[in-house]
Amino acid sequence: MIPLTYAVTLADWTPQQDMLRMMLRCLGDQTCQDFDVILADHHYDARKSSVDELSKNYKFKIHHIPIIPAPHVAKHYIDCSVFNVGWILSDAERCIRYSEWRFLDPKLTETILDEPKELFLDFYFHNIQETPKLWNRETGLIKWEEVPLFNDPDTDIEQIPLNCYANNTTSREQWAKVNGFNEVDFNFFHWEDIDYNARCRNSGFRGKRLSNMMFRIDHPYGLEPNRANRPCEKPFKQPCDSCEDLIHYVRYHIGTPTHKEWGSIFAARHSQVSIVERGFKKWAICNKCNFIIPILDTEDIAEYVLRDGNYTKSPINVNGSGRNLQILIDDLKGKSMATKLQIYEDSWTNERYLTLS
Ligand SMILES: [Zn+2]
Repeated sequence: MIPLTYAVTLADWTPQQDMLRMMLRCLGDQTCQDFDVILADHHYDARKSSVDELSKNYKFKIHHIPIIPAPHVAKHYIDCSVFNVGWILSDAERCIRYSEWRFLDPKLTETILDEPKELFLDFYFHNIQETPKLWNRETGLIKWEEVPLFNDPDTDIEQIPLNCYANNTTSREQWAKVNGFNEVDFNFFHWEDIDYNARCRNSGFRGKRLSNMMFRIDHPYGLEPNRANRPCEKPFKQPCDSCEDLIHYVRYHIGTPTHKEWGSIFAARHSQVSIVERGFKKWAICNKCNFIIPILDTEDIAEYVLRDGNYTKSPINVNGSGRNLQILIDDLKGKSMATKLQIYEDSWTNERYLTLS
């Protein structure tokens, strides 16, 4: 069994594929090559020949696949279920989410595989400014003399911090135990990392934070759905007219509402909305397009996600939104990638993956 998958999600498009070149080069330079890569791509067709060309000299296997969104749940700007794609399709014991605009120390894979797979390993948020010297966009080379050393200490984690973001790693078994990244709560905003960290904490995971292993290049976000910088090849289901009207009304009259305000506005002003409650969580769901938005009673996200220590799994089947990922990965085990993708596409609406246990 392959011990590690790098789960990459590509949303941005760079005409010369310089970011892809840099990321592949970082993987090719790893001192340990015992991994594969799932490259889940919002621009799969447009990038296919470049991926084939750039990857032919590398020893590791790259599974380049299109990202297929849910057909039945409208999304506005963000869909965090995309972060589960690589983890779902992998066969490896553990995965690491490797987001674009990041580069890696050549010893990262070796460091990960030297640790027990159950450990949750986090690599901090080392954000740096791009300079022409730092990153040669033509060759993909990172000039390590230009990379600043960060002072964050290597440290043991007794309790998962909420600021781990999501470019970390643990076993796929543990990822399934918390039901992966939350597929329900996020349309406009983006605290799926806090939500994930909280469920890992509530599940009692232990680990380490390791410094100067993964670095992030500061960058603007694209304004297209999925934060892409050009339209995705397989777009979201669009919100219905009622949802769009309300979104535009709010943006025009209120500007940028808080998390708490968005939920209460949808619950109060939407003409055809159902309210679903489960435990401490509550959602407003459009009856026409299934657009879903959490209703929060606080602005304190940390307090909200840690309120109930039994909150360990991300929500499953909130009016058809949110899959049971354990059942899905059990079904995919040992299948070819082509078969996996067929099952993946069907999984959004197949009742089998919408059962709670
Ligand atoms: Zn709607």
